[in-house]
Amino acid sequence: MDGLSDRFGRRIRYLRISVTDRCNLRCVYCLPAAGVRWQPREQLLRFEEIRDVVRTGVRLGITHVRLTGGEPLVREGVVDLVRMLSAIPQLEDLSLTTNGVLLARHAQALARSGLRRVNVSLDTVQADRFAAVTRFGAIDDVYAGLEAALDAGLRPVKLNVVVMRGVNDDELVELGRLAVDRPLHVRFIELMPIGDYFARERLVPSDEILARLRALGELRRIDGPAGCGPARAYTWPGARGTIGIIGAVTQAFCAQCNRLRLTATGQLRPCLDQESAVDLVPALRPRVDHERLAQHIQDAVAAKP
Ligand code: SAM
Repeated sequence: MDGLSDRFGRRIRYLRISVTDRCNLRCVYCLPAAGVRWQPREQLLRFEEIRDVVRTGVRLGITHVRLTGGEPLVREGVVDLVRMLSAIPQLEDLSLTTNGVLLARHAQALARSGLRRVNVSLDTVQADRFAAVTRFGAIDDVYAGLEAALDAGLRPVKLNVVVMRGVNDDELVELGRLAVDRPLHVRFIELMPIGDYFARERLVPSDEILARLRALGELRRIDGPAGCGPARAYTWPGARGTIGIIGAVTQAFCAQCNRLRLTATGQLRPCLDQESAVDLVPALRPRVDHERLAQHIQDAVAAKP
């Protein structure tokens, strides 16, 4: 198979799968305080259906899969899904993005089931700020999750920090320092215009983030640790980890985009920034039709803007 290429010649090999729309936090930049109406459970793809999509995707050229949400660890049995996906021979990389709250409980089982690595979202090291940004989270749960991930041998462990001016931009150096002593890869992400929270004043451009991090010492540009994402990675002498900058807004990386997104209800979205999607459900229910599924995946790739 010579891979999945779109009409701009981009090779599509990364599939990001939302396994649930539910979340156990309400981060200010992501969800409204009142929450949202969750999708009825019966509309969520079953694990076997997700596996069928990944199998067909892999046959076409997908090599990297990331499980996300909502919060993936609130979906009951997600460890079983990890086991099912990690058994697909040609899948090179299986990772998970989590807020970390339930990670201490699941890290060992996830690693045993074939998960390679994990990204944990953590925007601040201050407990009261963490509670404010997530609206009710307890930071100690995330710290316990990080330790459990390292103990379980998940590598690399990356931290996702969404940078917000006036909220956590005074902590950038402190957050970056986490990558000095521990084998942690701290990735600073520009706040993206999702929902009502975004305001231009809150956006800290990636160049400014980088300039502030230079307080940690002379940064050296490197290839990022495992993955095929858009971060620019740096390290400095003596550090055990790295830092990464994701200029989601000021350095739009559409030209390098290599991904598709699957929603929890089976909509395959060609682009994060657009609502349009290819509905995979007719190819999955009442029973899977692999040829139709393959056609739908190719349609989504062809529709990439
Ligand atoms: N619940 C999981 C978590 O917290 O990591 C996975 C889903 S969450 C939507 C995935 C990532 O998107 C997190 O790192 C989160 O911080 C980031 N994110 C959500 N809204 C964002 C925004 N408006 N701008 C930038 N990143 C955002």
